[in-house]
Amino acid sequence: MRTFEKNIRKVEPYVPGEQPQNKVIKLNTNENPYPPCPGVVKALETLDTDRLRLYPDPACTLLVDALADFYHVKPEQVFVGVGSDDVLSMCFLTFFNSQKPVLFPDITYSFYKVWAELYRIPYECQKLDEDFRIVKEDYYRENGGVIFPNPNAPTAIYEELDVVEDIIRNNQDVIVIVDEAYIDFGGKSALELIDRYDNLVVVQTFSKARSMAGMRIGYAISNPLLIRYLNDAKYSFNSYTMNQAALVCGVEAVRDREYFEEGIRKIVETREWAGKRLAELGFRCLDSSANFIFATHPAYDAKELFEALKENGIYVRYWGSERIGQYLRITIGTREEMEVLFGFLERYMGKKN
Ligand code: PMP
Repeated sequence: MRTFEKNIRKVEPYVPGEQPQNKVIKLNTNENPYPPCPGVVKALETLDTDRLRLYPDPACTLLVDALADFYHVKPEQVFVGVGSDDVLSMCFLTFFNSQKPVLFPDITYSFYKVWAELYRIPYECQKLDEDFRIVKEDYYRENGGVIFPNPNAPTAIYEELDVVEDIIRNNQDVIVIVDEAYIDFGGKSALELIDRYDNLVVVQTFSKARSMAGMRIGYAISNPLLIRYLNDAKYSFNSYTMNQAALVCGVEAVRDREYFEEGIRKIVETREWAGKRLAELGFRCLDSSANFIFATHPAYDAKELFEALKENGIYVRYWGSERIGQYLRITIGTREEMEVLFGFLERYMGKKN
């Protein structure tokens, strides 16, 4: 080993879902199957390219104002970043500086562990119960901060707001981050608690319900003090996180509430229909409040099924890790895409029986 090797920060990176370049039925990374709203398309078509000579607004004023308006908060309560991954990463860096462990569920968004390792933050995973529910009392012990998604990923299970509030109330000496990447597809947001708890940060994204995963926009909403700390960290890292196209498109996406709500309605409708179809085929699906379904089948090996689907151009997500080795996570696509999935499953199961 060369001497410099010992001074290199080594991390085991997060492994994102595949982004195949050929055309497949893509149900593996919880993207939205519908295009962004017309305002976004128009903003891109009419983008003032001369403006690209200049740095973008480091304060992201127009986008922050649009979000503040949409969520009825003050602009000082909004922080934006390059997808919620960037926002969450900044939150880990800014808020989790205790010697005590940060707590999050054992089955959850696998990036939490990676950020903790990257920033050398101690952490401990709390086991979800047999039904993959959060046991709130597990988060009442001394800790350096708490983070969990609601709805959780990859389970899609939503915890009621009183459970979320109990966890926040019992952790007033640390920051609690509620990662609401999927909240628009079901359940009540913890945003209504931000005036009551000064230790709460809610993080959301444009990647799911707003159909803009490729544009990379995420945001945190909290009280002005915590948002100021987040901005201080951001300006110490990279002042210009949001590019000009993301700023103008983001504003358009926030303004079109009708398109946003209609898109959610379609996905929820397809989800409910797909859940029934999966159950008819013998799958056991966890209750989903998200834009994906976490499913297992008693008679078919998940890994084999995952591979057979992939060979047939249908991508879903499979981890093969402890406790979830027999589960597949299936993103809700268009009705037509889901029909292709079910056509394949029927053939696959018909052949095997
Ligand atoms: N949180 C959770 C729970 C997620 O599943 C994802 C999507 N992979 C993210 C955050 C990050 O999404 P994005 O960076 O696209 O906003």
